[in-house]
Amino acid sequence: MSTIRNIVILTGAGVSAESGIDTFRDGGGLWEQHRVEDVATPEAFARDPELVQRFYDMRREAIQTKQPNAAHHALARLDSEWSGNLLIVTQNVDDLHERAGAKRVLHMHGEHLNAWCTACDVRSRWTGPLIDGPACPACGERALRPDVVWFGEIPYRMEEIFAALQEADLFVSIGTSGAVYPAAGFVRNARDLGVATLELNLEPSQGTLWFDEARHGPASEVVPAWVDEMLS
Ligand code: NAD
Repeated sequence: MSTIRNIVILTGAGVSAESGIDTFRDGGGLWEQHRVEDVATPEAFARDPELVQRFYDMRREAIQTKQPNAAHHALARLDSEWSGNLLIVTQNVDDLHERAGAKRVLHMHGEHLNAWCTACDVRSRWTGPLIDGPACPACGERALRPDVVWFGEIPYRMEEIFAALQEADLFVSIGTSGAVYPAAGFVRNARDLGVATLELNLEPSQGTLWFDEARHGPASEVVPAWVDEMLS
């Protein structure tokens, strides 16, 4: 890996699983006992905003009690010590990469700890509940929703992600099932660009055959081992 200079890392729910945050898969396709289409679509929010706000209020409260694990810490160390370009593109809406100390993090699916005002379009740091319809700190309207990209919505900052892939020498996918697009397609975008690809996941993902190399095991073990290799 001595010729690697620029790295794009994609992380998914599996990187936070050992911190006690459920993946979709753990729930057998349910997310914390809810069908995704009941809580994670714009249609669900239009139909039953209270259910959706309550669901995200609980998730927002829960992630604040969780701690980064060895995989988050290893990636933060790579971020601080890697002199080439590095971008951690996360599908996760928790803040465990940042709490481990990573700086070069892009949240393509938004963040639990942000509220988005649909009246003025401003995003505000938000740690409390939204169910009571609090006023937006920027405009005063009671139009805040979770700043989370729901199914059917367009992920954030795609141009930046593709620009980073174009410069990359290595694409690494960690703890993601390869089921949620467009992130699941990044490995093929990387291959088309001639970028080397590596999967680190508990088990073979749906897209595992697209990777040049795959290493399987818990993120808290395979990620620190890979980071040690990269920095040695
Ligand atoms: P997913 O639930 O579809 O897949 C998780 C993957 O992680 C699986 O392939 C599983 O085998 C693997 N995994 C489970 N435990 C692991 C471990 N200890 N070490 C390594 N790998 C492990 O998750 P996804 O691919 O990220 O897609 C689901 C969507 O759900 C994303 O869009 C994300 O926004 C959202 N989500 C986020 C969180 C979070 O923020 N922590 C949690 C659940 C879901």
